[in-house]
Amino acid sequence: MRNVPIATEVINTRTRIEMIDVTELVQKHVRKLAVSEGFLIVYNPHTSAAITINENADPDVKSDLLTKLDKLVPQIESYYQHDEGNSDAHVKSSLLGNSVTVLIEGGRLVLGRWQGIYFCEFDGPRERRMMVKIVDLSQPQS
Ligand code: ZN
Repeated sequence: MRNVPIATEVINTRTRIEMIDVTELVQKHVRKLAVSEGFLIVYNPHTSAAITINENADPDVKSDLLTKLDKLVPQIESYYQHDEGNSDAHVKSSLLGNSVTVLIEGGRLVLGRWQGIYFCEFDGPRERRMMVKIVDLSQPQS
């Protein structure tokens, strides 16, 4: 097993709330390191953003998901106590989660036909970080 250090990507978000498809960005690390078998963890170190896997074919899915989250967790509620004014972003971050695990086989991310990996911004625009830790289980070439 090869030890691969954590890679960090900078993501500049452009609006308060958005989902950015980072699938190719993540796949790039697998390719660069020539990892054929293993898995990786995509990690978001922020408390007002998230990582999720969902459909990347129809952009309406992103729009529906963000609209539904906004209805479930409005930006302003009379009972919010956190004085930064971004309580909704913290709640959405916890609802979606901070990481995903993706299998690697034959040098490719193992994702369903319609699946993509998304960095989810809930309190942008900001400069964000996204970490990728690859666990390389490839057999050494003989
Ligand atoms: Zn806050």
